[in-house]
Amino acid sequence: MSSYISEIVEEDVITCECCKKNFLTNEITLDDFNFAWDNYTTIDCCSDCASSNMECYAIDFDKMNNSQKLSFVAERNGYVEDGIGYLDDGNEFRDDNGQALFIDNEENEDV
Ligand SMILES: [Zn+2]
Repeated sequence: MSSYISEIVEEDVITCECCKKNFLTNEITLDDFNFAWDNYTTIDCCSDCASSNMECYAIDFDKMNNSQKLSFVAERNGYVEDGIGYLDDGNEFRDDNGQALFIDNEENEDV
């Protein structure tokens, strides 16, 4: 059984930074809420948001495979040129570590 949030933070109420809902920390557990300091999500947000909203996740291109990268680009109306992902305004995509999105050509050959 997971710890109640009230065992971890001093606040009686925490707010999901995504949907802005308030939660009583003595009623929800770590299964219900994600903290940015865990690096699983980029913001403090409830698990409902974390499971439905990609924006809540920490973006790390190193941990994505090519098809995940391609769908990441497609979802944001970007494009790939010479193996690098670009936003539709021509700027390169950057993950939360500031790294550009490279499509690994060797991985593509296996597909
Ligand atoms: Zn939420």
